[in-house]
Amino acid sequence: MSGQDTLIVQTALKKHYTLSIAPYKGDKACAISYTFDDGLAEQYSLAAPQFEKRGFRGTFAINGSKINSDSGLITDTTRMSWSQVRDLSDRGHEISNHGWKHKNFARFPLEEIREDIYKNDSAIFANTGVVPRTFVYPNNNKKEEAKRIAVQNRVGTRTKQRSIGSKSTPQNLEAWVNTLIETNDWGVGMTHGLTYG
Ligand SMILES: [Zn+2]
Repeated sequence: MSGQDTLIVQTALKKHYTLSIAPYKGDKACAISYTFDDGLAEQYSLAAPQFEKRGFRGTFAINGSKINSDSGLITDTTRMSWSQVRDLSDRGHEISNHGWKHKNFARFPLEEIREDIYKNDSAIFANTGVVPRTFVYPNNNKKEEAKRIAVQNRVGTRTKQRSIGSKSTPQNLEAWVNTLIETNDWGVGMTHGLTYG
């Protein structure tokens, strides 16, 4: 029961319940979310199957404007198609909003940012049947006034991340995980391309 907070709740019916709130699922020492940016095709073909093999699911932050249509005409082979995005969602992965056109909050007027965020929500919902409950900031820019729009109706947005990419080694990843365990922290990995990008 280590690390748990226990509280006694008295309901309106005067019944007492003892609730235990574990910091993480299964009362684990830490948590890690693996996020994949920009809807790259190999995240679908290479990463997702590896996660599933291990019983894990990932978070895939996509830009709707760059996703290939389902017409069969792939305009950008480095990006997923909407049917692949839908397939990921159906298989239990999370599809996160990364802005329709990946507009950096620092570089566009607020109204354009708002449209960019909402348009991507609509497209993801239309194609997967699920409204994205998280947001991943394009270029990790969290300019305050635009951030206030991005966080609306979300359970969370990505406010910290650790790049997992070409400079990662099994050793430095293990050191990261060990630190998370020691500090009971929630780590968020950020990956772009696996073999490109
Ligand atoms: Zn991005």
